[in-house]
Amino acid sequence: MPLYEYVCGGCGATFDMLRSFSKADEPAPCPACHAQISKRAISRFAAHVHGSDGATTSVAGGGSCAGCASGSCAGCHH
Ligand SMILES: [Zn+2]
Repeated sequence: MPLYEYVCGGCGATFDMLRSFSKADEPAPCPACHAQISKRAISRFAAHVHGSDGATTSVAGGGSCAGCASGSCAGCHH
């Protein structure tokens, strides 16, 4: 079962929870205040996308080039 990260809409706490894929987007009970109004945070898995060429590119880096890791393209001259 995949591990998902949630942000509580009541107290703002973040917590991880193992859930089935079909229930990933359902609100999870907050372990701190027990409110069921949490939202799923961007998981660590979703922080990376797989390009068509098979390369893994970091979304957070903001780079549009799959040929360099820095995002500035200073190394690959794109
Ligand atoms: Zn809470």
